[in-house]
Amino acid sequence: MLYAQVVLPLAQPAYTFSLDEALGVNVGDAVVVQFGSSRYYTGIVWSISDHEPEFKRLKPIIKRLYTTPLLQPHAQRLWEWVAEYYMCSLGEVMRLALPTLAKPSGKTLDALDQRTIAAPSETYIALSEELRSEETLAAYVSRHERRAPRRTATMDRIAALAIERGAKDGFVPRRLVDADVAHIAALRSKHLITTETRPREPIARDCHEQFLLPQLSTAQQRALEEVVCAHDEGLVALLHGITGSGKTEIYIHLIARELAAGRDVMMLVPEIVITSQLIERLEYIFEGRTTTYHSRLTPSRRSQTLLRLASAEGGELIVGVRSAVFLPMRHPGLIIVDEEHDPSYKQSDAQPRYNARDMAVSMGRIYKARVVLGSATPSLESYINALSGKYRYVSLAERWGDAVPPEVIISDTLRAVKRGERKIHFNAELLQHIERSLTAGEQVILFQNRRGYAPYIQCRTCGYSPRCPHCNVTLTEHRSSGRMECHYCGYSIPRPTMCPNCETQDLATMGFGTEKVEEEIQRLYPEARVARLDGDTSTSESAFRRIVHRFESGDTDILVGTQILTKGFDFGGVTTVGILNADNLLSSPDFRATERAFQLMMQVAGRAGRRNDRGRVVIQTSQPSHPVIRNLVAADYQAMAAAELAEREKFGYPPYSRLIRFMLRHKNFDTLRIASNIFALWLRQKFGSRVMGPVSAAVEMLRGEHRAEIVLKIESGASMARARQLIGEVMEATKGDSKFKNVILSIDVDAS
Ligand code: ADP
Ligand code: ZN
Repeated sequence: MLYAQVVLPLAQPAYTFSLDEALGVNVGDAVVVQFGSSRYYTGIVWSISDHEPEFKRLKPIIKRLYTTPLLQPHAQRLWEWVAEYYMCSLGEVMRLALPTLAKPSGKTLDALDQRTIAAPSETYIALSEELRSEETLAAYVSRHERRAPRRTATMDRIAALAIERGAKDGFVPRRLVDADVAHIAALRSKHLITTETRPREPIARDCHEQFLLPQLSTAQQRALEEVVCAHDEGLVALLHGITGSGKTEIYIHLIARELAAGRDVMMLVPEIVITSQLIERLEYIFEGRTTTYHSRLTPSRRSQTLLRLASAEGGELIVGVRSAVFLPMRHPGLIIVDEEHDPSYKQSDAQPRYNARDMAVSMGRIYKARVVLGSATPSLESYINALSGKYRYVSLAERWGDAVPPEVIISDTLRAVKRGERKIHFNAELLQHIERSLTAGEQVILFQNRRGYAPYIQCRTCGYSPRCPHCNVTLTEHRSSGRMECHYCGYSIPRPTMCPNCETQDLATMGFGTEKVEEEIQRLYPEARVARLDGDTSTSESAFRRIVHRFESGDTDILVGTQILTKGFDFGGVTTVGILNADNLLSSPDFRATERAFQLMMQVAGRAGRRNDRGRVVIQTSQPSHPVIRNLVAADYQAMAAAELAEREKFGYPPYSRLIRFMLRHKNFDTLRIASNIFALWLRQKFGSRVMGPVSAAVEMLRGEHRAEIVLKIESGASMARARQLIGEVMEATKGDSKFKNVILSIDVDAS
């Protein structure tokens, strides 16, 4: 008889089960076990031994779930690292790392019977039969080209792809045809094309395959060589390349080398970028090898992807958001983190609160893989590692081709108001530049970091503002729906017409969001075609693509949006970018506010003038001499970083310390207050003045629960192992104490 340690998706240590050798179970396999009296779970076999444990009444492993192990030894070591670093159990790592359907559980065995790995399929498109010959197509195109240029272009592309790929029946993969869903549907309804679902073509893995790679500029070539050189020395490379410098081109060359050698590449991208041109380019070049992974995938696609990669033969390119770090990489070669400074890499709302960028660096070590972190505005954490020589700093400081960085213009809002040079939310200076672009037939982007019409409304008579009863934040007005909405939990009410408090009809709209900007800019320029890109207009991937596509193809003149439009886009026609209110970026209470404001504004600015013409960025602010604004004008990342690092050092903030944030939650305010005071006291007994709080969380009440925070600041250089141990003791003490009953406690290591 054998004995297996099995990790279950619970906040529990691994449990021992007996294992019948005949089952052929190996370490890393997913297995079915019974746990508790009436529930079956999927578990991961962590280790196997023949050493009989003391406890005799062991339950048996019932069966193996998949034909291949889900975790290779190097992935096990990674999970162990996550559990230790982020202070959680392996079970919690499992809960997060494996998609729901890949780890079935249920009351009966039937409920979780083995899922076979369905072959991935995809849509194929062909021209309708009578248009497949060269002559009929040419005749059709010449007849319709003037009236329907987009339609004929798409058809032409399908025909060209079929020739290029030698597709005898004329069918080509849908994903290679650059057209949105509505466009394809229209062609189909006109019987111009037909579509079919087919199994995805098996990929002929030719190790000597030639990819069609972009020709690098001299500066890019040099940067590429420096990255390769860093890797040869076993160092992480920090690629600091300004927007438009062509970091993507360097990644592409690095990816090609790994794939050609039969190794896997993981490229992490921020959540928002997943639908962008970047993916299309990668899929085009690395056709058939690219797997994308993001939050809009269906549950079955997620587990299919995981299971397929668990048995893949090497040479895979995985492009994904944060959660992709947990996908199997059987032949690890390279890990790229694009826009490594992006806050979406940090999991902030579930345990373990990992940072995928930091995990990538650990993966490099554990997987023996190369790592590149890329950004136009690196995080200060990565930057200081580069300064100290822990990472290799590689700089790419010029834009590709003729493109020059945009001119940054600071527009003083207070002065504009004083001189009567402000129309609603726009300074005259910004309007001049908008007009100049519009007259020249060029495009404009307006950035406002808030969606909705107005962040709150307020009664002019009594000062009352409607708030969310569950979260205690003001409700945002949305004109399109006529409702007031909570941006934390989604609670909403119809917009009141009179003050619910004093019943006067004097409710004023305060502040402004993208919806209001859209309305007002349209009123100022009735001729201009205005669109809006934010969380409300891009609820689906297709809606998002439609808006982006219309802007790209010049059907929209002015695009108003939130930070969704800061990343991963390459809009050629934009010559004016307006940042409507820099003040609310600068005044956030977070210690990272300065860094974030700089990063965000640099990213937005990077959308201007990416091709030939020099773009302009107009930043409206009432603090024109704020150091961050001055550094933006000079596009001086180094100066921003130096000033900010000095500030952080003075106050002992990261990267000069680690912040560990404990959050306690409970429905009852007094219970929470007592528990959090005791918890802070216990921590203080071990950590002294490194403990801050408890204080109410920034959003004190969320979904009906009160929330308190305690922050522990561990100076860099102090032993994290020791800190972890002491924290473990305090956590343990809460378990038996009735004052912590039903109080939910979570830990955020490297909190922001
Ligand atoms: P970044 O990601 O650094 O902001 P991109 O990789 O998006 O920059 O490149 C900016 C633009 O320049 C893109 O339109 C890209 O196609 C183009 N570009 C950059 N380098 C090259 C190259 N070597 N060959 C062709 N086009 C390039
Ligand atoms: Zn709410």
